[in-house]
Amino acid sequence: MELKKLLDDYEIGGIGDIKKHTLRFHSYRIGTVEGMLTIFAEYTSGQFPITYKGYPSGQELLIELCNLNLELREKPLKECAEILIRWSLENIHPYYHYGDDVAALEQVDNDADQYWDMLVNVIECYSISVKDMVQDLEQLYTDTMTLFAIRSLMEGKITDAQRIYGEVRVPDEKNLLHAWYRADSVHRPLVLQDFIENIPKLKMGLEYDISTGQIQLQPVVKSVVDAAYFGLARFMAVNANALDDYGGKTNIAFCQACGKAFIKRGNRQKYCGTLECQSVRNKLKSKEYYYRKRR
Ligand SMILES: [Zn+2]
Repeated sequence: MELKKLLDDYEIGGIGDIKKHTLRFHSYRIGTVEGMLTIFAEYTSGQFPITYKGYPSGQELLIELCNLNLELREKPLKECAEILIRWSLENIHPYYHYGDDVAALEQVDNDADQYWDMLVNVIECYSISVKDMVQDLEQLYTDTMTLFAIRSLMEGKITDAQRIYGEVRVPDEKNLLHAWYRADSVHRPLVLQDFIENIPKLKMGLEYDISTGQIQLQPVVKSVVDAAYFGLARFMAVNANALDDYGGKTNIAFCQACGKAFIKRGNRQKYCGTLECQSVRNKLKSKEYYYRKRR
């Protein structure tokens, strides 16, 4: 998976890049906290979690998490727990725990073994409520699709907006397209303004950077979902500098066959890279060719 590579060579840049340490554990178990299904990271003596400097690129993370949400839908929580464990093992622990930066330093210490055992197995700092994370992901998905649909409406591409917004599940009074259709052309900008206003606010704060010895303004991020929201904001806003996390212009699009988000490699790419969707594309292409030839 490409994300793993991105985790390794994530570069430090201007405001908006998140430098907190993140962790990948080697195993998890499923349990409950006050009756709520919960997954717990496990620590086995000597097998330290892998430490990463920072979160992966916000945009790539955003795509991963939106697609993860589609995978979780309609599944019983137990199965969601298994899927979230798989994701965490392949990527990073989804929530930041206060002190992870210290933990990264402790790892070289003599007492590291005891330290991790205490933090992970005894105090259980690295536990995740399955229901909470499922809800966080659904919200992120809704907000992401809302913003992409808004951008299509702004560009006058109404069918695109409908397609993008198609899988969003919100009650009627929160439905962007319903509100937009109900408004006349004078009030439509106000509808867009209103929906953008309802996207969760991003938090910034001061941090002391140990490696450079400087005070810096940084995004306040407690989870991969927070990091994805920063990626989303920087992708959408015209005045968010360092718009791009890795050099070239990144274009997010939604596959016309399966609906998943993917990074567009060319301007006209309509289908994601999976074999199924590419075969849909090829079939349509050959049909088109057949009809053109017959005429
Ligand atoms: Zn697809």
